[in-house]
Amino acid sequence: MHHKRLIWQLYPSQLLITLAALLAFTWYGTSSIRSFQLSETAIGLEARAHLVASSVLGYLEHDDLKGLEAFCREAGKKSLTRLTVIAPDGKILADSDEDPARMENHNDRPEIIAAFAGKIVPTLRFSQTLQQNLMYMAIPLDGHGNRKDVLRVAIPVTTIDKALSAIYQKILWGCLVVAVIAALAAWFIARRISKPLEQMKLGAERFAMGDFAGRMQAEGAEEVAGLARALNEMAVQLDGRIQTIVRQHSQLQAVFASMVEGVITVDTEERVLDVNQSGAQLLNVDPEKIRGKSILLAVRNTHLQNFVKNALASASPMEGEFSSRMGADGQEKYFYAHGARLQDSQGHITGALIVINDVTSLRRLESMRRDFVANVSHELKTPITSIEGFAETLLDGALDEPEDARRFVEIIGKQAARLHAIVEDLLALSRVEQEAKREEIVLQELPIAEVLQSAIQTCSSRAEKENVSISLACAPTITAGINPALFEQAVVNLLDNAVKYSGKGSEIKVEAEIKAGEVLIRVCDNGVGIASQDIFRIFERFYRVDKARSAKLGGTGLGLSIVKHIVQAHHGRVSVESSPGKGSIFTIHLPVRS
Ligand code: ADP
Repeated sequence: MHHKRLIWQLYPSQLLITLAALLAFTWYGTSSIRSFQLSETAIGLEARAHLVASSVLGYLEHDDLKGLEAFCREAGKKSLTRLTVIAPDGKILADSDEDPARMENHNDRPEIIAAFAGKIVPTLRFSQTLQQNLMYMAIPLDGHGNRKDVLRVAIPVTTIDKALSAIYQKILWGCLVVAVIAALAAWFIARRISKPLEQMKLGAERFAMGDFAGRMQAEGAEEVAGLARALNEMAVQLDGRIQTIVRQHSQLQAVFASMVEGVITVDTEERVLDVNQSGAQLLNVDPEKIRGKSILLAVRNTHLQNFVKNALASASPMEGEFSSRMGADGQEKYFYAHGARLQDSQGHITGALIVINDVTSLRRLESMRRDFVANVSHELKTPITSIEGFAETLLDGALDEPEDARRFVEIIGKQAARLHAIVEDLLALSRVEQEAKREEIVLQELPIAEVLQSAIQTCSSRAEKENVSISLACAPTITAGINPALFEQAVVNLLDNAVKYSGKGSEIKVEAEIKAGEVLIRVCDNGVGIASQDIFRIFERFYRVDKARSAKLGGTGLGLSIVKHIVQAHHGRVSVESSPGKGSIFTIHLPVRS
């Protein structure tokens, strides 16, 4: 829509009102002047008529039409008045300006009709004879027997018209001047009104841009100044509200950003409104890229898409769990999600809020626990079944055959020892775990050579049996923060494995050194070695590369697990390098205490 400037709204109306007032005044003034002039003229005309009436009557009484004619001409000329004498039948008896013989009957003229009726009525009419506007007036001439002649007098009224047209001209000029003055006045008023309004417009534009620093000047008319004050007040209110909103928004953003849970908000069309950093990481998406996109395109997980759909449809909050391989590492992850609809202050549904927790480690722990229970049961089941079987065989009659009986009892003893070993290892493992958890393991900075020597001593009888030699290379100055009993147990387990999985007559080396801020303790053998696919699993509980061989050698599958936990309790780690057929090197890495 096109908007007119203020001056063009003010000027025409102002001009119109002024001109209308001027014209009304002119019309009233001129018509008053005219009627006053005419009535004055009529009075004068009547006086002239009465002045000449007695002379005319004199001529008529003597029937001296010639004399009358001459008188009319003479008197008419001198008084600048047209004189006409009319007989009762309307015939012209004499006229000051025209030959009566050439004049038509005047019976029908209004002033004549009125005079015959005894009235004196002035009449304005254009005279065909004299070709100008005249005022006519006729008076009855009495006293001439029964005859009732009429004397008509007429004078031109052009002087009045001339005077009036001069007035009209002046008024026209006046109108022009008024138009110019009105334009100037309108321009002046418009400027006075529009200038503060324009400043206010600029101020309001500044407010709209969010710049609330400046204030508007309350100047001009009271209404305009009042508007400026109201706008200033509005700016203060707006500024305060916007600041509150910005503060709340940044607080909310900070809460969102620092949340461990992933938070996603969607609108009713399932478009992503926002996603926090944790959410983006969990779902492996770029938060900037998915904002405004439909959840179907943003996240390629049908479970989450359905969850969002259901959360939007459901009046009550929802919970659900789903798994996904969306992560950067491609590993299966488990998510626990809460969903609730979002409502505005009027109660309208505006979207949904989805909170996602990564429960992968919880689920893994649960599954590990389940596996562990299954494994323990399985490990215990084998010796128990064996003991049960041989005991039954003995009771069924084998007791009577001393040779078999002795063999079976030996087997029972072996299986019981195995059970004992498993239970011992399990207890050791759980003890280490519990103590490490409660931080009850006391570490002391001690030379490790002594502990290594003691571990070698513990394994020496078995080593001798296998004809295996164990050498130690450790400077007595090397110290580490250790719990001597636990650390020895770890080294014993490694040495025990090295003896077990090396052939007769092989050599085992125990070395220690300080390298790159770590104390390294290596147990090297040249035994069977471990295939690369098994290397990552040998520290798991009950994992054995060759079950039968391990069992034969009295292994429980828990030895390396215990090593791992002991080393972890020492704030270190254990690594292994191995190649099948060549041998293995197990290395314990302990941090050097500064
Ligand atoms: P186990 O009681 O069976 O020895 P461990 O937890 O000590 O259980 O070891 C797990 C598995 O790792 C063993 O069954 C064995 O296959 C392998 N292993 C451990 N140490 C060695 C080694 N020094 N040489 C070859 N294989 C080994």
